Amino acid sequence: LIEARGLTKSFGGDVVLQGVNIAIDPSEIVTIVGPNGSGKSTLLRMLAGVLKPDGGEISHAAGLTIGYVPQKLELEASLPMTVRRFLNVPRRVSEAAAERALERVGVKALKGRSLEGLSGGQMQRVLLARALIVEPDVLMLDEPTQGLDQPGQAEFYRLIEDLRSELGCAVMMVSHELHVVMSASDRVICLNGHICCEGTPEIVRNAPEYRRLFGSGTQGA
Ligand code: ATP
Ligand code: MG
Repeated sequence: LIEARGLTKSFGGDVVLQGVNIAIDPSEIVTIVGPNGSGKSTLLRMLAGVLKPDGGEISHAAGLTIGYVPQKLELEASLPMTVRRFLNVPRRVSEAAAERALERVGVKALKGRSLEGLSGGQMQRVLLARALIVEPDVLMLDEPTQGLDQPGQAEFYRLIEDLRSELGCAVMMVSHELHVVMSASDRVICLNGHICCEGTPEIVRNAPEYRRLFGSGTQGA
């Protein structure tokens, strides 16, 4: 669906990403892991088409639709508007589409609630619902379970797996919760300015490059 070759990106002379080759196939769940500042969000933004690479090429399949949920959401979460109105940003959606999206992620009851009063987990589901409205071929989620407790994270990733089965979309997400997210991923890519290692969760978990970055304790095991 998406294929990128030789991606590079610098900010103010600092090279953030170099020589990144990455592809997303239909219906797969790919997770990008890596330390803070390793370029995960930058890579996702480039693949989503909201940030231009300095070098390299990104090709999207014809007619590809991407649902992208960025990492920085503090501003949105404090907006004094209802969930229903929020689903109309950036464009108006029908009542039926709004309800279907909220129902899919299990938060239909929140439709009339203000964004301000939502818990972290509820807000993440509302954001996911909004991303689903475009009926994406690829769902891109940047740290979608930041701030959730471990049962909340596990539940969210189960929901992602259900959506993938139901809608057949591919999912690319960025995560720090390695031990939780790994079981929900078909493929893991470990990033640190470049791709250190990638493969099935099992392969990455045992890769020396991964262990060097995350240790071999409970975090990665
Ligand atoms: P985290 O785990 O903290 O979310 P990350 O892996 O997502 O980190 P990025 O947000 O991609 O990391 O940032 C990688 C590097 O690029 C960081 O050093 C960051 O400061 C820098 N960077 C990212 N965006 C910009 C920008 N718009 N302007 C300047 N520097 C930037
Ligand atoms: Mg990030």
